[in-house]
Amino acid sequence: MFMQFEILKSDKNSSARLGKCHTAHGVFHTPAFMAVGTQGTVKALTPEDLREMGAEIILSNTYHLYLRPGHERIRQLGGLHRFMHWDYPLLTDSGGFQVFSLNSLVKISEEGVEFQSHLDGSRHGITPEKAVEIQEALGADIIMCLDECTPYPAGHEEAERSMELTLNWSRRCRDSRRRLDQALFGIVQGGMYPDLRKRCVEALREMGFDGYAIGGVSVGESKEKMVEVVSQTVPLLPSDQLRYLMGVGTPFDIVQAVQQGVDMFDCVLPTRNARNGMLFTKRGRLVIKNARYADDDSPVEPGCSCYTCRNYSRAYLRHLYLAEEILAMRLNTVHNHGRDPPGHGRRPVERMGQNLLCSGGFGTGRRKRTRATGPLGGFFPQKAGREEKSGAGENCVYEMILSKRPLPLERES
Ligand SMILES: [Zn+2]
Repeated sequence: MFMQFEILKSDKNSSARLGKCHTAHGVFHTPAFMAVGTQGTVKALTPEDLREMGAEIILSNTYHLYLRPGHERIRQLGGLHRFMHWDYPLLTDSGGFQVFSLNSLVKISEEGVEFQSHLDGSRHGITPEKAVEIQEALGADIIMCLDECTPYPAGHEEAERSMELTLNWSRRCRDSRRRLDQALFGIVQGGMYPDLRKRCVEALREMGFDGYAIGGVSVGESKEKMVEVVSQTVPLLPSDQLRYLMGVGTPFDIVQAVQQGVDMFDCVLPTRNARNGMLFTKRGRLVIKNARYADDDSPVEPGCSCYTCRNYSRAYLRHLYLAEEILAMRLNTVHNHGRDPPGHGRRPVERMGQNLLCSGGFGTGRRKRTRATGPLGGFFPQKAGREEKSGAGENCVYEMILSKRPLPLERES
């Protein structure tokens, strides 16, 4: 079955919307936060754990699977869903981002990109056609066009050249696809330049994709800049198709982008921080190795209903972490991923969209801040980015929605 996206509800006061997407491997609801399964696994969790947490769609990285164990091997073993025992919606990226971020010896040409493996130094080439071929072998429900992530900062000329390259590659990706049971997303580039973003969207729409991603953000620019780029780009995208903001981000970033009409997100923040012993709580980050927790019999977050908090003390988690026990990673990840008790269904990031839309939306007046409507009405800068500095607001947003605290942006590479 081919992918179908339906909008269930739109917010009156913002561009936020609730949606439902049907794929060959079932349904996922939007806004959706995708856990990152870099090597065909969300580190330390089983698919059953993920489902119990309410995860409906996850992401895996083409670059890593191409190098090891190899896409052809995965194809022969029944495809990535079967290989990793995840029989639900799945998205793979094109591999481009990792090629650029993990390798120093990268050669980009019109034809494609050449690089040296970070594993064994072997030389490889990925063209747009190859990126599609690999992703067709893996068999995810949503696959991505090969793009060049425009570096930051980049001058107008450089950003334009890079955007043209992405357009050329996008066309070739579209023309080379053979499987029609997968959705193919185009990626909008154009650096921080509104005219380039606009041209890129127009050209991609002309080519026609099943959904659109905004790439080239959270690459070192300011938050204000990111909000600006997203708010300028989203309205140009088709309103009846999925919009995916790649590699974002903190809960605050996500809420802002949901408000602007973005449907999908991915970020390694919850899982990576968990493995480093950094746990999210309402009051901020809790560094579990600290001596003050040695005799602390309380859970990470009193009142948290996750498996870890229901059953283990800070003292025990600290001990596991210092002893470098495998269970430390698992229990920490379970907490950071924000699990509801069984039966409650969706994780906070997905639920947040529901709550916002169901309780009156994102606030009334477009220009002034209002505390009137919705649980978060008062905490959103209505003029994108301008008033975001208020740390208190950020914390409140965070506490109210996710019971977690924002951390610097990261993206798995
Ligand atoms: Zn917990």
